[in-house]
Amino acid sequence: MKVRVAINGFGTIGKRVADAISLQKDMEVVGVTKTKPDFEAKLAVKRYKLYAAIPEKAEAFDKAGVPIEGTIDDLLEKVDIVVDCSPGKVGAENKPKYEKAGVKAIFQGGEKANVAEVSFNALANYDEARGKNFVRVVSCNTTGLVRLLYLVKENFGIRKVRAVMIRRVVDPKEDKKGLVNGIAPNPVAVPSHHGPDVQTVLPDVKIVTTAFKVPTTLMHVHSIMIELEKDAKAEDVLEVLEGEPRILLISEEDGFTSTAKVIEFAREFRKRYDLFENVVWRESISVVDGELYVTQAIHQEAIVVPENVDAIRAMFELADKEESMKVTNETLEIGKLKL
Ligand code: NAD
Repeated sequence: MKVRVAINGFGTIGKRVADAISLQKDMEVVGVTKTKPDFEAKLAVKRYKLYAAIPEKAEAFDKAGVPIEGTIDDLLEKVDIVVDCSPGKVGAENKPKYEKAGVKAIFQGGEKANVAEVSFNALANYDEARGKNFVRVVSCNTTGLVRLLYLVKENFGIRKVRAVMIRRVVDPKEDKKGLVNGIAPNPVAVPSHHGPDVQTVLPDVKIVTTAFKVPTTLMHVHSIMIELEKDAKAEDVLEVLEGEPRILLISEEDGFTSTAKVIEFAREFRKRYDLFENVVWRESISVVDGELYVTQAIHQEAIVVPENVDAIRAMFELADKEESMKVTNETLEIGKLKL
């Protein structure tokens, strides 16, 4: 029997998670929700059963001629789990609905950690989500940091991490806000929230982060500096990263001079140019005085998608970590883009 899933909030993350779940044999999308009958709702009904996210607004769908099957309350009666992909902080407001309906729920990184029993990353703490009812998949930046730091910690030990987040200002679809000109320290005060967020998954990693917003929509870039416990050479680190499908290694030599080129490459292979992997520049990997340097790019719209799929498997104990990640990787073609 397949796990029956609802997607509450069919936006940037919701539509991608819905498509990824549809590729799995052990789970199915029963329905998705939208707040209003806009073009995205019209697209959603072509592929999924649509429900009104806000029951009081259901009439607007009828008036616009966009067919819905009911409201979120009707949808929750038909599922085992809801993946809440509503805007940040709204997930916590939706939680009482899920509790009342007796369904499990996954929340996204825009929620505070205390919305769930565990903050999740498949590589780092899959087993902690086993059998849980409420899990939070950490944000795009945190997912990118945690994947890399987990691999370094397991193989070389970590004394201390410093990381600088250079963040895309908004997603490409945004037309209401943005930074047209300038580089904004965000927050200005140090540290940024990313370090403590990493510690919700890797509590024993000492990390301080700073963050800046820049006028681009494509990807974030992280400049990461890690004081290692064990002696290691750049080649040793490269070998570890090469062994993990959720890391994609690229080279400046191949013309990857910026995130613009990374996305141009992804456009050839992936729907919506989604990059589910951490994209790490080979040449950036260096060890100087026992400190490892790495530069990676993170496609914010896509990186958390495989983690949502794995979280469902962990919560229903459908598979162990290796099995789940292998199936998710195969279905999303993660690990196939190697150059
Ligand atoms: P989004 O604005 O693209 O999508 C949110 C969707 O939820 C919209 O379709 C909106 O209409 C709908 N919605 C609004 N109110 C709702 C409600 N009360 N109930 C249900 N749905 C409602 O946002 P997003 O970028 O997909 O972000 C969703 C979550 O994922 C946030 O927690 C965010 O922090 C997190 N996240 C976003 C990114 C990113 O870069 N976009 C990356 C990782 C995690």
